[in-house]
Amino acid sequence: MAEENKEGILCPICGNGRIKVSPDNSYIHCEFKKVEKQGKEFVDVGECKFRIFFNQSKSIGRTLNRAEVKKLLNGEGVKNAKGDTLYLDKENEAFYTRVEWAEKKPSTDLL
Ligand SMILES: [Zn+2]
Repeated sequence: MAEENKEGILCPICGNGRIKVSPDNSYIHCEFKKVEKQGKEFVDVGECKFRIFFNQSKSIGRTLNRAEVKKLLNGEGVKNAKGDTLYLDKENEAFYTRVEWAEKKPSTDLL
């Protein structure tokens, strides 16, 4: 359960940083997340790596709003029209989300 008070919501990963919204409104992140460009790559150099993008078109096919991101932080699921549900996943350090698909599609034969 994410703690919330008038100073903001605390990071579910490190428990210390406050959750911030990026200047371009494209993602939320822990205030202790820091990325540096090293050569051609961006590398995490901060105390915490937590970040979730509002745009979840590659997972549940749409963009989240702020209320939905808060739901994720509280451990609640966010559904799309098909019933697929997006959850916070603290173990997934790449995206910090996981999807439970409404309909499991069986594997098919390799012909
Ligand atoms: Zn954090």
